[in-house]
Amino acid sequence: MKKQDYQKLEDTYEMGTYPKRDIVLVSGSGATVKDCEGRTYIDCTAGVGVANVGHANPEVAKALADQSKKLITCYSIFYNDKRAELVKKLVEISPKNLKKVFLSNSGAESVEAAIKFARSTTGKQEIIAMMRGFHGKTMGALSTTWTKDYQEPFAPLMPAVKHIPANNLEKLESAITENTAAVMLELVQGEGGVRPLDKEFIKKVRELTKKKKIIMIVDEVQTGFGRTGKMFACEHYSVEPDIMCCAKAIAGGIPMGATLCTEAITVPKKSHTTTFGGSPLACAASLATLKYIKDNKLVEKSAKNGEYFVEKLKAINSPKIREIRAMGLMIGVELKEKSGPYMNLLAEKGVLALLAGPTVVRFLPPLVITKEQIDEVVKAFEEVLS
Ligand code: PLP
Repeated sequence: MKKQDYQKLEDTYEMGTYPKRDIVLVSGSGATVKDCEGRTYIDCTAGVGVANVGHANPEVAKALADQSKKLITCYSIFYNDKRAELVKKLVEISPKNLKKVFLSNSGAESVEAAIKFARSTTGKQEIIAMMRGFHGKTMGALSTTWTKDYQEPFAPLMPAVKHIPANNLEKLESAITENTAAVMLELVQGEGGVRPLDKEFIKKVRELTKKKKIIMIVDEVQTGFGRTGKMFACEHYSVEPDIMCCAKAIAGGIPMGATLCTEAITVPKKSHTTTFGGSPLACAASLATLKYIKDNKLVEKSAKNGEYFVEKLKAINSPKIREIRAMGLMIGVELKEKSGPYMNLLAEKGVLALLAGPTVVRFLPPLVITKEQIDEVVKAFEEVLS
């Protein structure tokens, strides 16, 4: 089949909720992907921050192949060897107060669990989230996501959610009531434009939520597993949340979500379950992913190569660039004009990038990206800007 044939099939049979780009991807390796006509791209999308260990990672592939011959599915009413190993490992690498894990299948699901657990633990209902925040598009998660365009077609959403401006302690204090269950935030807002929140604000949020017995939920779905140059962005902020949401890069591209909790978070038996959560296949992929990140020092690489990437971007010195915001290999370049048209221009030069709002070009490459590949990306970006 030709490129147009694949496109026609998806255009005909998919629901059409994704704004499509004119590329049919068929394979990948490390930080690159290939289209059906044989063209190679440096992939600074990584499946939106999923492929931290690189595309078609051989160790993840081997773990999947081996596990698929042993046991693919195992509902969590039964114990499982791979799941047992994984939940221990996740607790070991997370902020040290987090001791329990609920496994699911996506970022939005990890957020749904967090919302439900915060409510069940406190017996309260209200969730305070941040303007420009993004937590997913299922009904509960969507209620906490800021973007009105995503919310409006599906109203009414979950009640008792308030949004306050990020970094505004006064607004947070005045939003809190007797009925507040949780404050939820991303430490670096991803979809909202790659915006690291202020360290002082986060410190105060932690103090305030502790004092008022409110659950602090940190959404590390995009920032987790080395993306920001630490295993979790929490480490940059020296913050230990009550609940941490994870997904995306957790299992090398296999769907998985994880909601990590302190021992004080409680939820009644049977009240929150999911058929596929913690499947042996996903757990095996995740164990291989975590091992690969450690053995190949990808967290350290993300920090170093992130700095290198930003230095190179700064050297472009284009009048079209308003600001560069970054943490590790989570990089946003705010332009003084719309960023949309640059997606195709970059693709023509063999680079795939993401948007993060109307004027931001976002680079979320696999953490295995090399300095030479970063040089190529920046060269292409400089060319399209000039
Ligand atoms: N939370 C954050 C911070 C995200 O960036 C995303 C997705 O981009 C989600 C939640 C939702 O994850 P998913 O698309 O896997 O449902």
